[in-house]
Amino acid sequence: MTQFQERRTFAIISHPDAGKTTLTEKLLLFGGAIHLAGQVKARGQARRARSDWMKIEQQRGISVTSSVMTFEREGVTFNLLDTPGHEDFSEDTYRTLTAVDSAVMVIDAARGIEAQTRKLFEVCRLRSVPIITFINKVDREGRQPFELLDEIADVLALDVAPMTWPAGMGGQFEGIYDLRDHRLLQPTGGSREYGGKVAQLSGLDDPKLAELLSADALARLQEETELAEIGYAPFDEEAYRNGDLTPVYFGSALKQFGVDSLIRSLAAFAPPPRPQPAEPEPVEPSRDEVTGFVFKVQANMDPNHRDRIAFMRLCSGTFKRGMKLTPTGHGKPISVHSPILFFAQDRELAEEAYPGDIIGIPNHGTLRVGDTMSEKAQVRFTGLPNFAPEILRRVALKDPTKTKQLRKALDDMAEEGVTQVFYPEIGANLVIGVVGQLQLEVLISRLEAEYKVAAGLEMAPFETARWISGDPARLKEFVEINRSAMAKDRDGNPVFMAKSAWEVGYVAERYPDITFAATRER
Ligand code: GDP
Repeated sequence: MTQFQERRTFAIISHPDAGKTTLTEKLLLFGGAIHLAGQVKARGQARRARSDWMKIEQQRGISVTSSVMTFEREGVTFNLLDTPGHEDFSEDTYRTLTAVDSAVMVIDAARGIEAQTRKLFEVCRLRSVPIITFINKVDREGRQPFELLDEIADVLALDVAPMTWPAGMGGQFEGIYDLRDHRLLQPTGGSREYGGKVAQLSGLDDPKLAELLSADALARLQEETELAEIGYAPFDEEAYRNGDLTPVYFGSALKQFGVDSLIRSLAAFAPPPRPQPAEPEPVEPSRDEVTGFVFKVQANMDPNHRDRIAFMRLCSGTFKRGMKLTPTGHGKPISVHSPILFFAQDRELAEEAYPGDIIGIPNHGTLRVGDTMSEKAQVRFTGLPNFAPEILRRVALKDPTKTKQLRKALDDMAEEGVTQVFYPEIGANLVIGVVGQLQLEVLISRLEAEYKVAAGLEMAPFETARWISGDPARLKEFVEINRSAMAKDRDGNPVFMAKSAWEVGYVAERYPDITFAATRER
């Protein structure tokens, strides 16, 4: 068995508060990566306290930074890519989802499908990322299992296959029944957690069940599961992998119910690394050459160093420490002497890594989001988009002698993919573009904290931007007529800044041979 077939690289998608952090902690706990649950958050907070701009996270109670957590169980290596939950950072989240092979969708049993879950689900669907559903918080009063399953099926247009079933919920919760393995997991002690009390049964008519459950709970469990069997599709691995069906697990991350089943499910059904879209042709994970792409760049992981970490997803080959990799398009090979693997947020030097693994490559700003890395520099991965900004602002310096520092800072942050920077054809004020409001606050506090540049933001006369391309003669004409609305992005590509989305439509109609793109692949 080749190593990569034993890799499961996945992300958790959810709406804030559904329980992603709690589930992450429990996955790591059950995966043996940490010994005390709660450590993820505690350490996260210790780290956050060290960095100024991260104060915003604390104030808002959101998680802006994202990381990679690796754990192993029974020969399978799990790489969990954390996605920032706040909607302002959806761009970052979208990019992270390009680096996973599957996803776990966490739903709050009292709330069902929420806005953010739905948005993230659409991204997964676009990329045919298969999804396992975890209905969380069954220890609390929630909606009925049928209502939740029907909502998933209707709203997301997916077949649902219940894999487990709760014996009561909230105050009536007496355990979780595994419909495939015929096991009943039950709470114990005052905290009513799952502490290992499990009974192997022959089926739902096993007489032993009467000793384990109250008469009411048993009758209800039997009736509901019978109806469920008629009403829902049986689990079908192929349909799941095609993204047409989602297996559904009920559980409580807080009380440790369902976590073990989820890990087993990932090991048994979630796909190992898949071929990745690339030019000139898709890259198979079995290819000998080492290839990968950068889906995230993060500064300040360690505030004592100004290094940046580029997160690269390995797509093929066996990576060995010290190997030389070349970013396609920028020429110079980079020796990767101190790659980082993220074992439960502790940095460890990686000696070897396989397709599906994530490697952190320290660098001084050479590597950028969307870069393809490879030994021969002959492939280029596709499909990592830059999104058109929805908010544009002019940056106004409080101290005009700091122009150079400002440019450097904005370039750095553009490289990280935090903000986009545009150089207008007319005028000296740089324009920055972001997808969400929160990014503006992050930008200003980082300018002060890291670059000692005091700056403010002014309204720009524009609201959105589009990358333009097309026939060179027509482009030139367009640029000349619209010079006051033209800018270049960091890579020198022409960008048209518009007062509104309506204006984009109006102008696009008048220039049918020019393409106005809202995303740009890097
Ligand atoms: P995130 O925003 O999705 O990361 O959610 P958190 O993991 O921070 O959880 C949000 C809140 O729900 C916290 O107060 C958790 O303690 C609580 N919570 C998470 N899972 C459960 C659960 O299974 N049962 C109950 N009762 N509360 C939970």
